[in-house]
Amino acid sequence: MTPVELRGVTYTYAGDENARPVLRDVDLTVQTGEIVLLTGPSGSGKTTLLTLIGALRAMQQGSARVLGQELAGASEADRVRLRRRIGFIFQHHNLLGFLTARQNVAMSLEQDGTMSETRRLARAGELLAAVGLAGFEERHPARLSGGQRQRVSVARALAADPPLLLADEPTAALDKATGHEAVTLMRGLAKSRGVAILMVTHDPRILDIADRIVAMEDGRIVQAETVPG
Ligand code: ADP
Ligand code: MG
Repeated sequence: MTPVELRGVTYTYAGDENARPVLRDVDLTVQTGEIVLLTGPSGSGKTTLLTLIGALRAMQQGSARVLGQELAGASEADRVRLRRRIGFIFQHHNLLGFLTARQNVAMSLEQDGTMSETRRLARAGELLAAVGLAGFEERHPARLSGGQRQRVSVARALAADPPLLLADEPTAALDKATGHEAVTLMRGLAKSRGVAILMVTHDPRILDIADRIVAMEDGRIVQAETVPG
């Protein structure tokens, strides 16, 4: 199954009827284990596209098959179910300040109703160790650095073993070295688990982690290239 397959996706924000579409006839495919970076100027429609793929908003035109679910005409219940199978690293999707790093990660395992709390907390500890945060499990976000918080977000997004990870400018708040480290970590985890990653970024410092770079401009995909080597 192809994790992401979009055909002719067009989207207009509600408002005046002369409003221009912010996405126009977008075709995009992301294969299993593939890391695709979506770049382009601010306002070109990257976040809108990601929220459609993540089933965070309803489709208008075109077809979007995500993890086997067709989103055109999907019910809210279908979209909720799909969202639970996707890992998100969104800027506004912040860690909860009153929970420890371990609790923040364990929270995303709650949807799996079969796991006891003890097991969830133990599993969260393993995931934090996998992102290099052994020893920081009981810290609250305020006592972690920006890079460490981003690693907690990565652990949380990957906790439920999602086949698809969507990230919106995950390095925006990080310095060069820390940003690169965070995405390299995502890449390593994705490759070892066969996770497909679609990452919005206009950070040129991390383009080297991509299998493919797709550029958007004014709601259209203007260029798609395979990264050599
Ligand atoms: P990017 O992520 O590439 O910066 P966005 O997808 O956020 O682009 O925005 C694309 C266009 O849609 C922009 O012109 C923006 O102003 C507009 N837009 C974004 N979100 C909304 C919204 N909730 N309501 C109306 N217009 C929006
Ligand atoms: Mg954006």
